[in-house]
Parts: sequence; C-alpha cells; structure tokens
Amino acid sequence: MYDVIIVGCGVTGAATAFTLSRYRLSVLVLEKENDIAMGATRANSAIIHAGYDPEPGTLMARLNVKGCEMAQELCGRLDVPYKNCGSLVLAFDEKDIETLHVLYERGVKNGVKQLEIISGARLREIEPNVSQSAAAALYAPTSGIVNPWEYALAMAEVAALNGVRFLLSHPVTSISKHDGCFTVSCGSEQFDARYVINAAGVDSAVVHEMVAEKAFAITPSRGDYFLLDKSEGSRAMHTLFQCPGPAGKGVLVSPTVHGNLLVGPNAVSCSDAHRVNTTADGLAFVKQHALKSVPSVNFRDTIRSFAGMRANSDQNDFIIGFPVPRFLDLAGIKSPGLTCAPATGEYAAELLEKNGLELIPKESPVTSRRKIRFKELSIAEKQRLIAEDPLYGRVICRCETVTEGEIVEACHSPIPPVSVDGIKRRAGTGMGRCQGGFCGPRVLEILCRERGISPLDALKDGEGSFILFGETKAGGRT
Ligand SMILES: Cc1cc2nc3c(=O)[nH]c(=O)nc-3n(C[C@H](O)[C@H](O)[C@H](O)COP(=O)(O)OP(=O)(O)OC[C@H]3O[C@@H](n4cnc5c(N)ncnc54)[C@H](O)[C@@H]3O)c2cc1C
Repeated sequence: MYDVIIVGCGVTGAATAFTLSRYRLSVLVLEKENDIAMGATRANSAIIHAGYDPEPGTLMARLNVKGCEMAQELCGRLDVPYKNCGSLVLAFDEKDIETLHVLYERGVKNGVKQLEIISGARLREIEPNVSQSAAAALYAPTSGIVNPWEYALAMAEVAALNGVRFLLSHPVTSISKHDGCFTVSCGSEQFDARYVINAAGVDSAVVHEMVAEKAFAITPSRGDYFLLDKSEGSRAMHTLFQCPGPAGKGVLVSPTVHGNLLVGPNAVSCSDAHRVNTTADGLAFVKQHALKSVPSVNFRDTIRSFAGMRANSDQNDFIIGFPVPRFLDLAGIKSPGLTCAPATGEYAAELLEKNGLELIPKESPVTSRRKIRFKELSIAEKQRLIAEDPLYGRVICRCETVTEGEIVEACHSPIPPVSVDGIKRRAGTGMGRCQGGFCGPRVLEILCRERGISPLDALKDGEGSFILFGETKAGGRT
C-alpha cells in the first residue's frame, strides 16, 4: 500500500514527487512512456514566464509568479541549465501598445516585479537585431530560460534518491476505489494507494474519468518550432514575444540555454493529442511571423524542427482539485505549466495535507544534485578528472564535447535511460549541429554495453523505435 501514486511524469508529476519526497511517505510514480518528460515537457518554448499573461486571481497567475521566483535558486541547487535573460513583448502599432498596457497592469496585479514599458529606441539598444518596425515593448527582466526536460529529470532524480519509486513503461489503464483506498491498474499489474494524483497531461481527462464523472475536456493544441544552430544563437538576447492573441502567446524568437536560437510556436487545434509532428504549413507560419520580430534570422541554419502538444482545456484555469476524496487532479496544465511546476508541486502537497495526508518531514532528505559537464571545467579540472577516470578523456559527441565518462554516468543515473535519446536528455549528446549523426552509433554501443543488451534491441527513443533492423547478411527483424 503506497501513501501516494502519481500518474504521469512530466514536469508536473516530477515536481510533485520531488516535493513529496521530503516527507516520510511511500510514493510511486507510474509513467506510460519509457522515460520521464516525454510529453509536453520535452517540446515547448522553455521559457520561465514572468507572470503578466494569466488573468489576475487565477491559480495560473499565482503559481506562475511563484514558480518564476523559485526557478533560479532551484535550478542552481539541482544543477539545471537556466539563464535569467528577461523577455520583451514587442508592439508594432497603436493596438499593440494598448495591449502592452493591459499586460503591464495584469503583471502588476499578479505581483510581477520590475516590469516596464520601454520605447523603440531603448528596445533597440538592448536588442539590436529587433525589427525597426517595433515601436515599444513590455520588458520583464525576471523572465528566464531553462532546459525543460532536465528540470523535470533533476526533480525526479532527487525524488528517486529520496526513495520515490519510478515505474516507466507503465500506462495506467484503470483505477478503482474501495475500502478507503485506490487500486491503480497497469494492465494486469495492480498497485494500491491511499491517495492518487492525476498528472497525465493531455490524457488528464481520461485519467480523471477513471474515477469521476466527466468534468472537463482537454482540447489539444500543437505548436511547431525551428531550432537553429549556435551561429544564430546571438540573434536574440532576450525572449522576444509578439502581442498575445486568442490562440496564445504567439510566435517567439528566443535564445536557448545551450546557445541556440529557438523560433516558434504556432497553435493548431488537433483531434489526436498524440500525433506530434510538424507540418509544412505550420513551419511556414512560424517563419513568416518570426521574421516580423527579427528580420535577419537565417533559417538556413535550422538544425531541427519539432512540435509540442499543449494540454489546453475548456476551462480558463488549471484544473486542480479533488473530484472525489483523496484523488487530486493536476489537469489541463497548459502554458505556463513548466514555469509553475515547482509551485504546483508545493501546492499539491499543501492540498493533500489539508485533505488528511500527514506530512512528516524527513530528517535529512537529498535536496540538491551535481553533474559533471566536462566542457565547462577548467583545464586543470579536466586533467584531474581524466587521471581519475580515463573515460572522461574520450570525447564521443564532438559538437557538444560530451565524453564517454559523462555517458556512462548518465547510464547509471538514478532513473537510468533506456534509449539513445534518453542519454541525450541526460548527457547532452546529439544536441549539436550534426544532431547525433556522428556520435549516434558510439552512444548506441555504450548504451548497449552499460545495459548489457544487444544493439538489435537498442531504441532511438520511445517503445518500438528500434535503430537497427538486423545483422548484415542475417535475417531482419520480424
Ligand atoms: C508548444 C508548447 C509551448 C510551451 N511553452 C511553455 C513555456 O515556454 N513556458 C512554460 O512555462 N510552459 C510552456 N508550455 C507548457 C508546458 O510545457 C506544460 O504545461 C508542461 O510541460 C506540462 O507538464 P505536465 O507534466 O503536466 O504534462 P506532460 O509533460 O505532458 O506529462 C504528462 C505525462 O503523463 C503521462 N501519461 C499520460 N497518460 C498516462 C497514463 N494513463 N498512465 C501513465 N502515464 C500517463 C505522459 O506520458 C506524460 O509523460 C508549453 C507547452 C507547449 C506544448
């Protein structure tokens, strides 16, 4: 019998597990994919929003501002790449300037600090490549950027070190309630718990309806992106938004924590929440709108395009509450859910406590994490590390200077990866210009060696994404 079962491990589930792991509780996380952060958490704009977008008085506004305030210290403690680059909402005409004032007022009501509306001249001083047509901007210096999947992974890893159990490739198929507890089924496997948390992203309505009446609908919305090479990385110094519209925050141009340039997203309603592919029309829309903000973006330096799926809902706020006693929905966590995550995790713990879960702090829980990032070390530190373990002297990913030592460390991390992309998410291999074209086979070899599996069973990413078809001159995979 677990105290708490969390269904779904994107950044919301991970942050909740991280918070609960500070207390004397038995916690189980059930995730349907073969790694954590495989949903919206791995394909988004990676912005830590300041908090001027959500309507004052909403949960979203409160958790956004708190999450933004928590991000810098938390990322420092968990060794997650984060940069406090600030954001600018650009205004191109009088109507946009009116919108800036609305956003400013909203931000002030929400408690966002240091917000100001700046002139076109000041804008071009701090953001030299911005369009000459931009007449003014809303400047939010507290906004930042983060590595979103590493944020989730770091919180999950610390939770695992504190004793939270993570079962991947465990899709929850049904939940039944009896004698004051829940039985959560993943096919034929069953787990009992006193409390259940629904953090299932685009599937949160499906999980909700396993125990309660239908109360909301998820209306998925896809967003397409371009990721550009580091040669374009300094095209924007801040996250550059356009004025938001009915479809959301609009197309942005933003630096990334790895030094690339990120451009996107559009917003297209989708009937299939799991069909996360870009479209030519979507990318064309993104390109056209981004050039309005920064006309000099060189799209020929694109190294990848990808899409993410928003868990938008038919409600105006996050859906957080108990539809039945001891079953907590963290549902419809659309943007800015990444920013909110650590605050959402704390709020979830608060609600569980109010609903009878006793939270007794552990004496000395793990609260931080450190990672070796070889390329960031000094020459002396590199020499010392290589002397201790020669695997750090073998560079596998040349674009990003990731060593075999770091890959082996990732393979044995608290939530070990089962795919080449799982190593990418932990060690940063394949993140550079060649996108794993050169290091991919080496990473595959190391993954197989460390996991003791055949290369024929190695996965690129999710279940079934086998990389190799068969041995040369032998029969293929059937
Ligand atoms: C295009 C786009 C741009 C965005 N930009 C930003 C941004 O810049 N800043 C920001 O703050 N937010 C942004 N967001 C929002 C943010 O990404 C999400 O709010 C956040 O990632 C949601 O996290 P989550 O854990 O709730 O959901 P997810 O990350 O989707 O995780 C849900 C998990 O539940 C699992 N699951 C589902 N069903 C089951 C089941 N039956 N059993 C077990 N597991 C299950 C899924 O596999 C998944 O891993 C953006 C979102 C998108 C799509």
